[in-house]
Amino acid sequence: MHEFSVISSIMELVKSEMEKRKAIKVLEIHLEVGELSFLSHDALQFGFGALAESEPKIEKDALRIITKPAEVRCRNCDYAGPLKVQDSSLGHLGTPIFQCPECAGPVDVLQGRECTVRNIRMEVE
Ligand SMILES: [Zn+2]
Repeated sequence: MHEFSVISSIMELVKSEMEKRKAIKVLEIHLEVGELSFLSHDALQFGFGALAESEPKIEKDALRIITKPAEVRCRNCDYAGPLKVQDSSLGHLGTPIFQCPECAGPVDVLQGRECTVRNIRMEVE
């Protein structure tokens, strides 16, 4: 599961930050997940919960996931902005369509693939 390896590396980052700042408790971790990273938020939460079990200094429900919308630029026209999203009948997140919403031309992704820790709220000594 890809999400598990992502969350493991986030955990490593959080732990090294804790050491640097001599934190006694991690309260919140704000994780920005790009719309085009195709990471399942549920799987991220699940993986986090499982890893946090063995980390007494990290709150089990510390992970806050923020969705970062995708932004693309068209190679044909001047369009820059979000992708059009195809509605999903399954009730899940819609599938972004990788073409320009204006002229259906090819697009370059400017943002939306990343998965980054924005902020860690912790209690220090
Ligand atoms: Zn276009």
